[in-house]
Amino acid sequence: MPQPAGHPESVNSIARRGKAIGAIHDGVFPILVHESVLEEILAYSEQDVDRELGGFLTGAVFGGERKHVEISHFLPAVDAHSKAASLTFTHDTWAAMTREVGERYPEDVIAGWQHTHPGFGVFLSGYDLFIHRHFFNEPWQIAMVVDPREREFGFFQWRGDQIVDCGFVCVK
Ligand SMILES: [Zn+2]
Repeated sequence: MPQPAGHPESVNSIARRGKAIGAIHDGVFPILVHESVLEEILAYSEQDVDRELGGFLTGAVFGGERKHVEISHFLPAVDAHSKAASLTFTHDTWAAMTREVGERYPEDVIAGWQHTHPGFGVFLSGYDLFIHRHFFNEPWQIAMVVDPREREFGFFQWRGDQIVDCGFVCVK
């Protein structure tokens, strides 16, 4: 399995629910990811190491003392395979995603998005930041980037008005 690109570890009450990987920042919505979903995303990401692939992360968001966002499902974006160069969010992509979430996971929220950077590393480009700021601007919405060639991945989240890389908690 690819290894996370993150660094140091810190733990809070949410982190104790599973295995904390990377830095869990203060004042953010900690990210919980089900291990099976993580494996599904990484397997999907490795299907094409020449072109960018992407999809959507869905799940639940919790507030209050134990606030966190929980990633329960992954939906590959429609058209993702047909795009030659990079993942783009077309009207059809959004329409299909909204419909599919409603049909398959009606209890879920759109918790974020995922895309691959085959061979060029784990970060958010200027275009990625634009996408995140415009379409994923809830404080709990996250981005995930996978480099299937380098076998690395990472998560990004809102910290105030900044989008920062961050760790996550992997749960069974
Ligand atoms: Zn990107």
